[in-house]
Amino acid sequence: MAHVSSRLKEIAMEDIPNITSDIIEELNKLNINSVYQLAVQSPFELALEFEDTSLNVESASTLIANARKILIENKVLTNEFSTADEVLEKRNKISRYATGSENFDSFLNGGFETQAITELAGEFGSGKSQICHTLCVAANQLIENSRHDDAKEIDRHSKRGNIIFIDTENTFRANRVHQIAEQRGLDPLPILEKIFHCKVYNSEHLESVINDLDKSVEQYNAKIVMIDSIISLHRAEFSGQGTLAERQQRLGKMLNKLRRYADIYNIAVVITNQVVSYAYGSHPGFDYMKAAGGNIMAHGSTYRIFLRKSGKNRVATMDDSSYQPYQRVKFSISENGIQDANSYKIEESDSHW
Ligand code: ATP
Ligand code: MG
Repeated sequence: MAHVSSRLKEIAMEDIPNITSDIIEELNKLNINSVYQLAVQSPFELALEFEDTSLNVESASTLIANARKILIENKVLTNEFSTADEVLEKRNKISRYATGSENFDSFLNGGFETQAITELAGEFGSGKSQICHTLCVAANQLIENSRHDDAKEIDRHSKRGNIIFIDTENTFRANRVHQIAEQRGLDPLPILEKIFHCKVYNSEHLESVINDLDKSVEQYNAKIVMIDSIISLHRAEFSGQGTLAERQQRLGKMLNKLRRYADIYNIAVVITNQVVSYAYGSHPGFDYMKAAGGNIMAHGSTYRIFLRKSGKNRVATMDDSSYQPYQRVKFSISENGIQDANSYKIEESDSHW
């Protein structure tokens, strides 16, 4: 049996209604070893894997639904239909991971949220990877949801966790994490020990890492998963017009899985995205930027943040969504990681947004 982190509520597979020991054995063979791991499966894929032992899509669907039912009973998930106070109770379990830049954190309403996918989109050098590195250092300075301010210290502590950094562009730098920690007066070693770095080589590799991310989250007791970047490999490998539909389908599948993980494991998922430029109207050559990945990406993330350079500073803009109003914030990048722009002397070129 896989090790299920003590942070997750222990729920036995045997407790799933109508499950048999044969099914549990088959699931274990597929490396599905916990109720959580079963609950994030898709019925179609599970049925395919079970091909030999003839579990059809319908019974796979019932099995997964029963796993979810157990999680609902244990208040890990909310029911399809739940009363608003139950929804609120689940929302109160949200944790927020701050960056240490006061303005940026209040722009995020306290920090990067669990149960959500936050997308950072921007051109090269706009600060996507730097925000991720900063979050690596600051993540344990957890800001609880204000309603949980009375939570016991031990409870707060149990919500701290490790970070999984999925690196598709080979841009993760442990020495940068080390530098940010030192600059902030923190001991770098315990921080570095909490980051589990995963180097990914191609789009298929990324898909398989995301497929198995439930196991990694449990194994490493992760509270934050960062993917820098979610799209670069797929963009490079599926570049022709004829392959666009397949790329989008694969992207959609990954985002779907990430959404389920965020929800079931109460983790924060942070992904970076590239931008594409497009010529605007009657001003050829006057480029505008939009996030890559089209509608699938736009609907896949809970929060979308656009980043751009502005003089020596950076500007982050929260895309208007049903969750967050339109707003923006200025920040800068230094040895400290990201920090409030106003801690810098504002120069002429920085005075505009
Ligand atoms: P890409 O699309 O190329 O991955 P990105 O949005 O991830 O771009 P970052 O790597 O986050 O870009 O930002 C790079 C910028 O961060 C550099 O151009 C530099 O201005 C700044 N930067 C990086 N390290 C430091 C540092 N130690 N001190 C000050 N600024 C730094
Ligand atoms: Mg980068």
